[in-house]
Amino acid sequence: MRNTTAEWQKLDREHHLHPFTDPKALNSKGTRVITHGEGVYIYDSEGNKILDGMAGLWCVNVGYGRSELIEAVHEQMKELPYYNSFFQTSHPPQIELATLLAEVTPDGFNHFFFAGSGSEANDTIVRLARHYWAVKGQPGKRTFISRLNAYHGSTLVGTSLGGMKYMHNMGGEGGSLLPGFEHIGQPYWYAEGGGMSPEEFGLQRARELEDKILELGAENVAAFIGEPIQGAGGVIVPPDSYWPEIQRICRKYDILLVADEVICGFGRTGNWFGSETFDIKPDLMTMAKGMSSGYIPISAVGIHDRVAEVLIEGGDINHGYTYSGHPAACAAALASIRYTQEHDLVHQVREETGPYFQAALHHLAETHPIVGEARGRGLMGALQLVKDKESRTIFSGEEDAGTVCRDYCFRNNLIMRAVDQSMIASPPLVITKSEIDELIEKARLCLDLTAKDFGLM
Ligand SMILES: *Cc1c(COP(=O)(O)O)cnc(C)c1O
Repeated sequence: MRNTTAEWQKLDREHHLHPFTDPKALNSKGTRVITHGEGVYIYDSEGNKILDGMAGLWCVNVGYGRSELIEAVHEQMKELPYYNSFFQTSHPPQIELATLLAEVTPDGFNHFFFAGSGSEANDTIVRLARHYWAVKGQPGKRTFISRLNAYHGSTLVGTSLGGMKYMHNMGGEGGSLLPGFEHIGQPYWYAEGGGMSPEEFGLQRARELEDKILELGAENVAAFIGEPIQGAGGVIVPPDSYWPEIQRICRKYDILLVADEVICGFGRTGNWFGSETFDIKPDLMTMAKGMSSGYIPISAVGIHDRVAEVLIEGGDINHGYTYSGHPAACAAALASIRYTQEHDLVHQVREETGPYFQAALHHLAETHPIVGEARGRGLMGALQLVKDKESRTIFSGEEDAGTVCRDYCFRNNLIMRAVDQSMIASPPLVITKSEIDELIEKARLCLDLTAKDFGLM
């Protein structure tokens, strides 16, 4: 079927309800229809070549059109397109993937539970963590503590773990927030740190965890969950003081520490996992997105030996998905991880492209009138849009410079996302320095246009 753009848009409007979208607003302008991709570029139905500065939704780590992944999936589909892992069965791609994950994850991670998405993996974590405490004779430890403005997925558990108020309030005030989920403040120094130094602020925000545990009673708290760097919240890099203090508090009160590595995992921050970048020693890890570079949906929960030992002795695990460890998805993940290894992408992000990208973002922050701060690690970054750099005055929601700039990016064939008043980027890990130059040049042009609209240039 080869339709014109207008025909695609009409059918899309008539039959498709989009995620995280106001349907009426979208229908008034029509969707952009993406038809194919190659490397770091995607193409739309009008023939525009667009630099994908977001790697899809933070996931297409190896870039588009990789024959290694496509052929691995094709071969697996011919061999065995589906079989489950319930009731004492398994299959080679699943076993190989669990073995390879044990190799690339930090020490002590030797067991993996498969699911279909980051949300499902986080649901799994909630169920496994509560089971863990019940097996240990402490069934009261059920509550999860997370941060405001965290993102952990969009199922009811994902929404509840996350700290997005507008998601909690879908279906009426708190209508999507389950009991047993509590939130503390986020370590977003630029917007919320006031007169404190970043280090003081990081400690203060970490200590909100201790206050919350004391308020709830440690005997009622199962775990704390956090993204090493908040992604969807706006690429929020915590001050260096933050994670060590969080970890100390989790150990002191015997609370499991969960790292949601859905974005940070598989090389994004310049190490295989964000936990390594911040020296976090988690008990459980959520993995998805870059795990298969998004070619086929798959996710996994990494279970540290200290938790796995208890679960293995703990009797039936009454949990699982029809598509847990789907063979074709496992084949895609295996091929993506092997591609990452064979092309030394993690090292390249750490030593070459990551520092190059971060330096370019920092240069924008130093030279551009509406960029107050550059944040990031490796190949994830944010530019904070401000009215006044001196006083750290961020554009208001009504002014919404973020959306203005995002729309300029769209029109100039660059995908960057606006999160409130930050412009964020997370390109494929295969991006070259000259492609980074192109990304930054386009971003600068769109920042200029935005600044002019607000009379700041
Ligand atoms: C995207 C994301 C999820 C949810 O993953 P889905 O595959 O969309 O369910 C969970 N955690 C983090 C940190 C994410 O970025």
